[in-house]
Amino acid sequence: MGVPTKRLNNGVQMPVVGLGVWKIKPSFVAKRVVKDALRVGYRHIDTARIYLNEKGVGKAIRESGVPREEIFLTTKLWNADQGYDNALKAFDKSLVRLGLDYVDLYLMHWPVTGKRLDSWRAIEEIYKSGKAKAIGVSNFTIRHLKELLANCKIVPAVNQVEFHPFLFQRDLMDYCNKRGIALEAYSPLAHGKFMNHPTISELARKYKKSNAQVMLRWNVQHGNIVIPKSTSVERLKENLDLFDFEINNDDMQSINDLNQNLRTCWDPSEMK
Ligand code: NDP
Repeated sequence: MGVPTKRLNNGVQMPVVGLGVWKIKPSFVAKRVVKDALRVGYRHIDTARIYLNEKGVGKAIRESGVPREEIFLTTKLWNADQGYDNALKAFDKSLVRLGLDYVDLYLMHWPVTGKRLDSWRAIEEIYKSGKAKAIGVSNFTIRHLKELLANCKIVPAVNQVEFHPFLFQRDLMDYCNKRGIALEAYSPLAHGKFMNHPTISELARKYKKSNAQVMLRWNVQHGNIVIPKSTSVERLKENLDLFDFEINNDDMQSINDLNQNLRTCWDPSEMK
């Protein structure tokens, strides 16, 4: 059975587990890892222009033998490329590096001050061209989303933000859910830190799964999409194997209670 999908606000189906490829470089390493991931069943890859591996990711997809339409590929507009004209050009350059004629999701990587609304207009144009099947944002707080929703023509389909048991952003998740914006959890393993927390270890023993699987399953049960990164075939398989157990309500609450507002990446609330 394939990985379950989530229906985005425009009807596109997005697999709820994907492979994140930040820090997997150079490009030929990314190519190897994406090929491994596709071979073990991944159908969703998350890259970005700033990860400097779009070439390898695209090559892996083209050489994998998996039909393009079965793969959900995300790339992102980097901050230095924001603004209306620059964003249009940056998107075309990403497609060239990928060697593909469309992406499934194009995200604004960060809500860059003074530029984000112009960039979003460009992203809306890209969507209308059909070269991005869905569009969205990343690192948007509620404040940034409110501003965008008051000014956009197309509501973003996705908001990709840091989200794991130690950063349980319930208000942001509820806000996104109410507006039909899917929450995509980046660094769902908290970047590999704190995976051995005693509560997570205890639940892993209870459910006979690994600590990583408990953290990822918690996120998926909240209705979120997860994109764990791994370069090891064994861990790639492990991170996809989340659909033969269910965390009960009390245990979900115990994991919710681990929240410490801990950010392993940067804090987007600092973006004015
Ligand atoms: P993750 O939370 O996915 O953690 C990755 C770390 O956990 C790596 O050190 C990995 O090591 C380790 N790991 C993975 N699986 C397991 C496992 N089963 N057991 C034990 N250790 C494991 O961190 P990332 O920060 O990479 O986030 C994932 C993705 O999210 C990124 O690759 C990127 O695509 C996206 N992202 C987006 C951002 C944005 O601004 N939009 C910012 C940050 C991330 P190993 O490789 O050796 O398995």
